[in-house]
Amino acid sequence: MDQIQKTDLLSLFPEELEQLFLSLEEPKYRASQMFPQLHKGIAPGEMTNIGKATLAKLEAHAFFYLPLIRRKLVSRLDGTVKYLFALRDGNCVESVVMKYNHGNTICISSQVGCRMGCAFCASTIGGKVRDLLPSELLGQIIAAEKDTGERISNIVMMGIGEPLDNYDNVLRFLRLVGHEKGLNIGYRHISLSTCGLVDQIDRLAKENLPITLSISLHAPDDKTRSEIMPINRKWNVEQLLQACRRYYRITGRRISFEYTLIAGKNDSPDAALRLASTLNTQLRSPADKTTFPIHVNLIPVNPVTETGFSASDTQAIKRFASLLEKKGIRATVRRRLGADINASCGQLRRAEEQQEEAT
Ligand code: SAH
Repeated sequence: MDQIQKTDLLSLFPEELEQLFLSLEEPKYRASQMFPQLHKGIAPGEMTNIGKATLAKLEAHAFFYLPLIRRKLVSRLDGTVKYLFALRDGNCVESVVMKYNHGNTICISSQVGCRMGCAFCASTIGGKVRDLLPSELLGQIIAAEKDTGERISNIVMMGIGEPLDNYDNVLRFLRLVGHEKGLNIGYRHISLSTCGLVDQIDRLAKENLPITLSISLHAPDDKTRSEIMPINRKWNVEQLLQACRRYYRITGRRISFEYTLIAGKNDSPDAALRLASTLNTQLRSPADKTTFPIHVNLIPVNPVTETGFSASDTQAIKRFASLLEKKGIRATVRRRLGADINASCGQLRRAEEQQEEAT
């Protein structure tokens, strides 16, 4: 396909867009005309201030593509909207828009599939197909804003994929999405969730971006964690928590820990106590002048047919949370939004793929 070599307009910084126009022998002010419009989801062909001759040159060298809505589910319970978006090459990813009092939050995907292999997760079952481009990360937000007609003010990178396994594209996306002429979503309104790629966490710490880091911990010890999260065999709990400590020292940003409760696997009172002890020992040494603010977000596991895991009951969850609190660790239980549309975890994409295989 000739289009493959074309420049991806929505992945460019304004200066790069200027360079593109100069190379097409167009004035560079075209870039400042175009950049804000692209980020509103207006295609070059729809822009009233771009003439036909310029457009023809541009279309010969560059493309603009927004994810297309393949399926859309709206929760009757809380208005959560789940999208299955089709990308330019036909691959699909999922995004979810959640409505809170403080504004709309979107959960976006970072890869088509995932290669991290977590035992409870639907997104990883077919492995990783490819990384998403910066334009495809932005595109999920722009397409959702266009569809809902509402501004999105917060982003969580907790959809399909491992964002730190797509580091360069994710970093470019983070810098583009905060651009004041673009979506202008501040770093403090962005959370990035990772299963624990220690080398990339250290790299991210040095970028000086005040985003919130979220760590998918899910187990109190190496034995349990290695069973459910293969990444733990590369970087264990201690190495991961030490990286968190370095991240906090450098950025001053609090880190939250995600802990998915799986019945009979990691939800016993003993597991809660061991988790508290590990976190306190690894993150809060008496020598530290500042106390590392620890926050654990408890999530009842979302059952995925292929994994065979089931969620802990309400009583076990409450008991787990109160044991953590007793040991000085703030714990909250994730409110489940969009329960009627199965709003989490890559299951819509899988259903779509299986349907395609069957036809
Ligand atoms: N790869 C990143 C981000 C995507 S997953 C990460 O691992 O953090 C987003 C969150 O959903 C992670 O905490 C992940 O462990 C969790 N998750 C995946 N499958 C789940 C399931 N079936 N039930 C509950 N949480 C799940």
